Amino acid sequence: MIIAIDGPAAAGKGTLARQIADHFKLNYLDTGSLYRGVGLNVLKNGGDPANEDDALKAAKALKHDDLTDCNLRTAEAGQLASVVAQIPAVRAEILEFQRRFANKPPGAVLDGRDIGTVVCPDADVKIFVTASDEERARRRHAELIARKEPCDYEMVLEDLRNRDRRDTERVIAPLIPATDAHLLDTSKLDIEAAFQAAIDIINGS
Ligand code: C5P
Repeated sequence: MIIAIDGPAAAGKGTLARQIADHFKLNYLDTGSLYRGVGLNVLKNGGDPANEDDALKAAKALKHDDLTDCNLRTAEAGQLASVVAQIPAVRAEILEFQRRFANKPPGAVLDGRDIGTVVCPDADVKIFVTASDEERARRRHAELIARKEPCDYEMVLEDLRNRDRRDTERVIAPLIPATDAHLLDTSKLDIEAAFQAAIDIINGS
């Protein structure tokens, strides 16, 4: 079984995808961490994240250890990720890894932006998770504060909107619900209620 969870930044898809994977005893892949790892690698190499050669070199060199970098969840890594993610060669490099992961038994839950549309168009269930901009910024702000990253709510909101714009407007694999995706708005749902709603969708599919 393959379950695709897509949606904009901080909509709650990571937590949800992890819980769904645990529940159905499936593998779990946070595909955003791959792009974050590439973005941070470019920076470490002194390269330019918008430069195709620099970004592709970093994508080819991506190792498992890069995905445990303590800076992976920072706002900076998120912005870098959305820059390298616009480069088709980088996406192509990462695509095969994601597909192989998804097809390994017993199946997997993948979360990202293009899982239902590009990576696993034949996924058994596709869920597109959304929440209002303000609610997503509130959650991300709380997460950054908990990690003692200095931040300001208005800046977090602006950062999310910039990243959404870049992800939605890019030419390749833009952030868009697959035509057969179930929409799940978590604006007014806590983690448990969102999980229950997702389980209902999956069991009803
Ligand atoms: O989900 P997360 O916030 O970690 O993703 C970071 C960035 O990586 C996104 O803003 C997006 O630009 C990129 N990404 C992507 N496709 C995916 C997952 C993430 O383009 N499947």
